[in-house]
Amino acid sequence: MTPSAPAAQLQTVQDRIAAAQKRAGRPDGSVTLVAVSKTFEAPDIRPVLEAGCRVFGENRVQEAKAKWPALREAFEGVELHLIGPLQSNKAAEAVALFDVIETVDREKIARELAREMDRQGRRPRLYVQVNIGQEAQKAGIAPGEAVAFVERCRAAHGLAIEGLMCIPPLEGDPAPHFSALAGLAREAGLEKLSMGMSGDFEEAIAQGATSVRVGSAIFGGRG
Ligand SMILES: *Cc1c(COP(=O)(O)O)cnc(C)c1O
Repeated sequence: MTPSAPAAQLQTVQDRIAAAQKRAGRPDGSVTLVAVSKTFEAPDIRPVLEAGCRVFGENRVQEAKAKWPALREAFEGVELHLIGPLQSNKAAEAVALFDVIETVDREKIARELAREMDRQGRRPRLYVQVNIGQEAQKAGIAPGEAVAFVERCRAAHGLAIEGLMCIPPLEGDPAPHFSALAGLAREAGLEKLSMGMSGDFEEAIAQGATSVRVGSAIFGGRG
């Protein structure tokens, strides 16, 4: 892949998002692209920043910590999302580094985040991750517990949850899972839905995604 390939692919993805938004009868700008830069290094990420993208997703705290401080020095206005599982011993680093944490999925993490946010005086925006396909190997709170968990985050920990996030099962039609997440968000009184990846972001937009997390369609395969 030539150095400028990610920038060209970014444009293609942005065009596809705009078209899917229009087909769904949703206003321009109602879907945010989170460019998932995990496993890619600065030479691949820079052209995407130069093309104007400012919202990025990383799935590991340590990796993000190694890459992003220097990129943030070079580019203003970066918004970094944590989209991978968070261990409670990394909560302090996550609060310091990320602007949005999309993977709040259990009591202990909620408690640690609340404590760190008070300590650091920094309040990243938060999403609750739902294990929408109820898969044993996947992170996320069970769908049946999600609404109560959102409530408990507010009531017991003072955490304002902004939306829900999911990764549907690899196999099968993702649309019913996207639609189920949208239903849970309505029940919980939340307007934001982080759902849809390279293979299915158009379906997610049709089901109401307000942000899509797209990696390989922009940066290429991760090997
Ligand atoms: C890697 C990852 C993505 C992006 O996946 P692609 O298929 O490369 O677009 C989105 N969300 C999460 C949680 C991820 O870990």
